[in-house]
Amino acid sequence: MKFIAFIFSAFLAVPAFAQQTFIQCGRLIDGKSSAVQTEMTIVVESNKIIDVRKGYHSGTGKDKLIDMKNQTVMPGFIDSHVHLSMETNKNQFLEKFTLNEDEGALKAVKYCERTLMAGFTTVRDLGGTIAISLRNAINQGDIKGPRIIAAGKSIATTGGHADPSNGFGKAIMGDPEAKEGVINGPDEARKAVRQRYKESSDVIKITATGGVLSNAKDGAGAQFTKDEIEAVVSTAKDYGFRVAAHAHGAEGMKRAIRAGVSSIEHGTFMDDEVIDLMKQNGTYYVPTITAGKSVADSAKIPGYYQPLVVPKAIATGPKIQSTFAKAYKEGVKIAFGTDAGVFAHGKNYKEFEYMTEAGMPAMEAIKSATVNAADLLGIADRLGSIEKGKIADIIAVSGDPLKNIQALGAMNFVMKEGVVYKLGF
Ligand SMILES: [Zn+2]
Repeated sequence: MKFIAFIFSAFLAVPAFAQQTFIQCGRLIDGKSSAVQTEMTIVVESNKIIDVRKGYHSGTGKDKLIDMKNQTVMPGFIDSHVHLSMETNKNQFLEKFTLNEDEGALKAVKYCERTLMAGFTTVRDLGGTIAISLRNAINQGDIKGPRIIAAGKSIATTGGHADPSNGFGKAIMGDPEAKEGVINGPDEARKAVRQRYKESSDVIKITATGGVLSNAKDGAGAQFTKDEIEAVVSTAKDYGFRVAAHAHGAEGMKRAIRAGVSSIEHGTFMDDEVIDLMKQNGTYYVPTITAGKSVADSAKIPGYYQPLVVPKAIATGPKIQSTFAKAYKEGVKIAFGTDAGVFAHGKNYKEFEYMTEAGMPAMEAIKSATVNAADLLGIADRLGSIEKGKIADIIAVSGDPLKNIQALGAMNFVMKEGVVYKLGF
């Protein structure tokens, strides 16, 4: 009886004709084609784009109309490299000891909202244990934020970038293990991947070389052996994970690319051999120019970083933009990624300015944050473009970002999964 009542009410819950939203677009960049279309209408029903029509259309009386005839409409942007669990500040190192994880999580709630309101409807969070809880809270509608593809804890080697006890005194440094994302040898590498699976990560992040912000001397040397990376990548494949490799130095990049990672993050000191390997293997480059510039600026503020970090930030940070320029010219696949968190969340759009400054046409930069990033994240079947059947992640700005890239810094409209989060023009 209960079952029959359930079936009956389930039928009643489906409206005979669902309400549709008609979005009239003065200019439409659909994320895929290289031409701008003018005077178009997107029809959204529930969380999906059900049609994209030429000309301006509206529905019946019960349908919604959003007039964006004076706007440039685009697919929701995708940032392939963020850290929503944190945001840079001069007490960051001290906060490892003073900030409780739940306090950190409450701060992160506002980073999520800021990111979404800046037009980034999907992000890949590459390291930070809070990200998995944020992802779940957003999916359940408890907080506002982008769709998150989360790595959870980055996988490092002892003393390497992302060993959480780097720079601690002996009395407290302990010996973190695979469970905490620190591995030595292929067996532990496999365990660390399986632990991430157990914690419900979506993607695996490794730190194939040293990094700028870890409290350690070496910012670019290889920190995983070939065997260790191969163990990570092959185990990741078993669980359907892609692997993102943080890398500044060329040797670490080569080991990672040969082992089959999906992307190189930062890529600062890539050489010609790395570029060739990336092209041969179809490996994406996620540049994070904004992070590079930002750490170089912060390093000039006395006491902002620990002393070991300062020379690395100054040597590494400013180099990324020219590396990007070369990689783009050579034809390496580029997916937009900023490393937001290393600078203020919500300023992700700065990357577009730096990419175009380095010679990438604005349309290409936009595609790196739509169709290319969707491809890298494995979500291109449902996101990254404005097309019939795709999920309704839609954003808009005034003016023409192809002529003035700064326009992307003033987001007027944000829709995620068919829900309007911002309508302010
Ligand atoms: Zn990062």
